[in-house]
Amino acid sequence: MFLSGLFRLSLSSLFCLSFAVSVSAEPTRECVARESGSTGSWWYEQQPIMGTQVQVELWHANQATACGLIAQVMAEMHRINQAMSPYIESSLLSRMNAGAAHQPVVVGKELFDLIALSLDWSERTQGAFDVTYASVGRYYDYRNNKKPASDEIADNIEGIDYRHISLNRADFSVKYLHDAVYVDLGGIAKGYAVDRGAQILRQAGITQAMVSAGGDSRIIGDRLGEPWVVGVRHPRKAGENVAVLPLIDASVSTSGDYERYFERDGVRYHHIIDPVTGDSAREVTSVTIIGADATTTDALSTSVFVMGIKRGLSLINGMTNIDAVIVGSDGRMYLSRSLLELSSAH
Ligand code: ADP
Ligand code: MG
Repeated sequence: MFLSGLFRLSLSSLFCLSFAVSVSAEPTRECVARESGSTGSWWYEQQPIMGTQVQVELWHANQATACGLIAQVMAEMHRINQAMSPYIESSLLSRMNAGAAHQPVVVGKELFDLIALSLDWSERTQGAFDVTYASVGRYYDYRNNKKPASDEIADNIEGIDYRHISLNRADFSVKYLHDAVYVDLGGIAKGYAVDRGAQILRQAGITQAMVSAGGDSRIIGDRLGEPWVVGVRHPRKAGENVAVLPLIDASVSTSGDYERYFERDGVRYHHIIDPVTGDSAREVTSVTIIGADATTTDALSTSVFVMGIKRGLSLINGMTNIDAVIVGSDGRMYLSRSLLELSSAH
């Protein structure tokens, strides 16, 4: 159980949280002390990386050490983005997408392992999590309100199938078994980057910290004897939370249909794609997963979003030490079993 004792849930009330990840203070690109005590300070920095805001905060007595570590975490995030971004033509991922339908592309152990892990999640989620969603998903342009033309869907929908990815561990190469396959790791790479960042801090002996990239956060330790408090934002009401999660040593990821979307004829097109249809998944509006590591919570928030309430909850309730807060498109909140027990006990 990653939640600390208190646990408050509300669909209607607004909580003012001094430490909420979603309600952080002034963004700053420089490493600054946000609060100080007699034994140290909370050092904080925020940078735009991977198409989102990366935030790192840690408790330390020494500015040079703290800010040096934060810089290392930021550098690691930039490195992962350079390797795995589909928007950078020279990235390893882009080179794989350009070549793997023709011949095996050697991608190295890191990318290979993350793809192998993604395929495991595809198996465990009955194909709801599928990095080949982008075979069609790449034709959405949320900034310019563009959805794929019907022939773009028809020509590429067969490319969506994780079983089209063939892995050769002998040389860490990847081959696509269908011409239309295009891979995007947007559903897992931020969680992975957050875990890598947290690992840098833990190895340096940091015992109280938070690393987050957009909707994916990892919390190391507590916040000076108190839990960290992460707000789950209301998918339709700006500034409101549907839940506040007091967390110690935990990861939390939220997938929502309000991050990147446009509306056409009353239909919301957003960035989480049902691999079966190539269209946005619409049974729920937000999914928050709590677990031990951010790679897992990231993959699962996207998965449960696609699977919907019944299938999603059954997946989560069958796992240990994983919890979910789902907001359905009916506006109701659905909780995994152990969260239900916790919330009814308070
Ligand atoms: P974000 O933090 O970017 O909102 P999410 O965890 O909500 O990320 O996942 C959304 C991202 O996952 C999309 O931008 C896309 O890159 C990727 N994605 C969308 N649909 C799927 C899917 N069915 N399986 C795996 N990845 C997906
Ligand atoms: Mg995700």
